[in-house]
Amino acid sequence: MIETSRRREILAGERSTLYSFGEPLLGGTYTEEEIEAVVKTIRASMDPSVGFGFNVDEILNFEREFAEFCGVRHAISINGAGTGLDMAMMALNLEPGDEVIVPAINFKAAALSVIGQGGKVVWCDVDERTFQADPEDVERRITPRTRAIFPVHMNGLSAPMDDLLEVAERNPHPKHGPLAVIGDAARALGGGYKGTHIGKKGWCTVFSFHTQKNMTTLGEGGAITTDDDELIERFRAIRQFGGGHTWGTNYKMTKVQAAVGSVQLRRLPEFVESRRRVAHERHKLLAGLPEITLPHEPPECRHSFYLYTCLVPDAWAGAKRDRLIAIMREEYGVGCVVANPPQYIQTPYLRKMTPGQDLPHSNRLAERLFCVSIHPSMTTRHNEIICAALIETVERLRKE
Ligand SMILES: *Cc1c(COP(=O)(O)O)cnc(C)c1O
Repeated sequence: MIETSRRREILAGERSTLYSFGEPLLGGTYTEEEIEAVVKTIRASMDPSVGFGFNVDEILNFEREFAEFCGVRHAISINGAGTGLDMAMMALNLEPGDEVIVPAINFKAAALSVIGQGGKVVWCDVDERTFQADPEDVERRITPRTRAIFPVHMNGLSAPMDDLLEVAERNPHPKHGPLAVIGDAARALGGGYKGTHIGKKGWCTVFSFHTQKNMTTLGEGGAITTDDDELIERFRAIRQFGGGHTWGTNYKMTKVQAAVGSVQLRRLPEFVESRRRVAHERHKLLAGLPEITLPHEPPECRHSFYLYTCLVPDAWAGAKRDRLIAIMREEYGVGCVVANPPQYIQTPYLRKMTPGQDLPHSNRLAERLFCVSIHPSMTTRHNEIICAALIETVERLRKE
């Protein structure tokens, strides 16, 4: 842990805006290579016989490279992860009353996609060290109407996929067989699990290339990975007006985005490595600060540190945690986010659509968690400022 006098020194120095957002944007990590890919693709498209088609090398190459990276048979590029989650739910052919189990500590998108396809959201609790869907709690919530388990690879770490797949096998749907396990990996591209990259395990996995995520294709974009040959055909049809046999619309990304995607994917290991370097350095700078529980990385996982998720002690839950975030922002210019409160609390529409469901364990956990700004381009100097600020803030709150 950084000594008091050293902290004063660090905090007296120049500050940066890089860490003023809890969830900083990735745009600044583009290089000339991405810019050149854009220009080259646009120039090539000015030939009227070429244009901006979608059955084109840029898109097909990017999809092949993405599938290879995740170690799967297929990847399909789309215009965003929200779309991909909808597509996964469409492929389930939900009937009214069908249930999908979704972690309460989550972004709102997965639950919205269940409801969008006429399904019923059943919230589950998460493990309090990893923030991932708790397989035991998931199993308790399975009914004869359950069709799928919908874990989010929360904040860059893998969900316990093998345990969830076992639960899915052990509790088959009476008509459809083993439950589908669908991963929302919008925040977790490049993370690992038991020697695989996230995106390998489960029925399918959805990724985001939105400007905040681990890599980005000009601000928007996404992909779905799967090993299922039929499912990928269904996704291709949905993406392009149904292919004549089924419902569909237009969910495609542009070839300019795909060309940037290929460059970003090549750089992704470096982004993830940088996030890991920042996180591991931060673990050391904060070690010995008794109040703060630092992010946990189970041995079978390789965290991509999309967010640096910490916990305050139970006695600091709620108001005192909020004070910590406010002091960090107002006095030190360090952004923190609460990612995320249970969605039936954070999102009024989801409250309305999941009446009577309330998970006290998740509620309490959400009052303790906070994520400290992290970004692949942070230096040791940035990390020292952030950690000095957090230590100062905690020491102050300790006396209150
Ligand atoms: C960002 C995010 C999404 C949505 O991704 P888009 O590509 O912006 O549609 C979905 N789920 C999670 C967990 C996210 O963080």
